[in-house]
Amino acid sequence: MYPVVDHEIDPAGDMILTLTNPSAPFAEWHDDNTTHAPPKNPSSHEPPTEPEPEPVIDEEAEVDEEAEVPAITYRISSRQLSLASGRSKKMRHQWGHHKGPDGYSHISVEDWDSDALLTILNIIHLRNKQVSRSVSLEMLSQLAVIVDYFEFHEAVEMFSKVWMESLQRTIPKSYGRDLILWIWVCHVFNMEKALQTVLSTAVQTCQGPIQDLGLPIPEHITNQLANKRTIATGQIVDGLRRLREGLQNDTQGCNYNCRCRILGALIKGMDRFHVFDPTHQPLLGHSLADTIQHIRNITVPYDYYDYRGCRCTVSSLTESFLRQVESDIMELK
Ligand SMILES: [Zn+2]
Repeated sequence: MYPVVDHEIDPAGDMILTLTNPSAPFAEWHDDNTTHAPPKNPSSHEPPTEPEPEPVIDEEAEVDEEAEVPAITYRISSRQLSLASGRSKKMRHQWGHHKGPDGYSHISVEDWDSDALLTILNIIHLRNKQVSRSVSLEMLSQLAVIVDYFEFHEAVEMFSKVWMESLQRTIPKSYGRDLILWIWVCHVFNMEKALQTVLSTAVQTCQGPIQDLGLPIPEHITNQLANKRTIATGQIVDGLRRLREGLQNDTQGCNYNCRCRILGALIKGMDRFHVFDPTHQPLLGHSLADTIQHIRNITVPYDYYDYRGCRCTVSSLTESFLRQVESDIMELK
């Protein structure tokens, strides 16, 4: 018996790979910053014997349509799969050793993009002419999910470098879904320098907890981001509170008028950031970059008669610790 498949990656292959639910929602962004369940890991071998559980989807209306998308099958070589995969020998061993009644080994995965899977299977079967040299960030992120799962990092390295390079100029400058996708692809494809850049951007420009889009981004990265924002927030709040105390007890500023002006401007200027309000979480809803810029832009009222050589501003009295905060954010280690 020669099962009919959708894609003949290797016509002499001994394995049928089945992709179920190929149009599953991918890396959904939630405006309210709520987290949701991570995607299930695809089963490692053997076809599923009963229906898979429904994926977690927020929009109830779309569930039925998504579930009806037919599965897609690929004829592949279990040997190529094992050679390309960095997974343990034990796991690789299972892939080629459970023959079904049709004489083929079976492996089942779910929720992936069918074109991304086709691309990866073409690469590991050395069908390089079938592989595009440039892909979108969306596609690259989907490819990364498959590479991460099978541990195909080394097998796709030549392509992943080309893909990443063609997209480098599109790295976003502010926090959002695309920036999280960049964190994901930089992590999977081991682009350490670019990863540090996008992590710094995320810390500087996010306005609260950072989403993982349900991607298996390692905890040490998401923790690093959260810690960095918490520490930087603490540094800013401490610095501003020290300045306020210094102005009140005459250790900052140069004369009475100066201290009154700076103190008033500081309290008034930082009002909506809740820096001096113990009943609110400081800086929540504000990015570090915007906060720092805002502090530098606080204006201090002067009139002609006040001016007696005093050139103090909120910015001049905060610049040294603000620079330290920025430099600490850049060193994401
Ligand atoms: Zn002064």
